[in-house]
Amino acid sequence: MSDLNDFQPFISMTGIRKSYGKGGQCVAIFEDLDLEIAKGDFVAVMGPSGSGKSTMLNMLGGIDRPDGGRLSIGQARLDSMSEAALTHWRGTHVGIVFQFYNLLPMLTAAQNIELPLLLKDLGRTARRSRIETVMRLVGISERSAHLPSQLSGGQQQRVGIARALVSDPQLLLCDEPTGDLDRRSATEIMEMLRFLNKELGKTIVMVTHDPEAATYAGRILHLNKGHFEEQGLAA
Ligand code: ADP
Ligand code: MG
Repeated sequence: MSDLNDFQPFISMTGIRKSYGKGGQCVAIFEDLDLEIAKGDFVAVMGPSGSGKSTMLNMLGGIDRPDGGRLSIGQARLDSMSEAALTHWRGTHVGIVFQFYNLLPMLTAAQNIELPLLLKDLGRTARRSRIETVMRLVGISERSAHLPSQLSGGQQQRVGIARALVSDPQLLLCDEPTGDLDRRSATEIMEMLRFLNKELGKTIVMVTHDPEAATYAGRILHLNKGHFEEQGLAA
């Protein structure tokens, strides 16, 4: 017997509404946004500045909430979850990678990577082992005791990716992950994201301005005037 869930997209946004501000100052970002993403997809989202790419990504990550509509990821209905349930969900189901890495400057690489684990009920040895695994995965084991200021941009982004992976989430959200990097480091980061998608089966949604970075994705979407348009495959 086939499982009904096989036919449901992993990520589903339907009729999403989102605005910022109140009254006369109110700006509607989305009035009716729809999106479906399958498990294991690698999706690049492009679009003009201010079109709502980060807002959309933050809703997928449970950092920001829609004002209306339906948003589900896997079995979770993010739109109707309590704040506490959402925080708990985020801790195990999603990893977020930022343009400017968002590392704490006074913590070493290993301590930055450890942060998401401190919210979990894990012993010191289990934490150590997970940190070592993800540091090996992204190739920064030799830099574990370095502070962010002692690392190149590319190395800092590897630490950012390791921190996003340490809870072993199914979904990785990346907001312009190569936006602050030179071409060579950007290519290394994109090769790594491709590996995480192809070999570890992570579902990736990546916002980018960089057309070259977007070529690593299996699907390219353009966000414009509150709606997604699929980029055609015609050459
Ligand atoms: P993008 O990432 O595509 O550049 P954003 O999602 O950051 O776009 O922003 C979309 C719009 O929402 C912009 O007009 C921005 O000014 C506004 N916006 C984003 N976040 C907030 C916020 N926290 N408060 C008020 N307005 C916001
Ligand atoms: Mg943005």
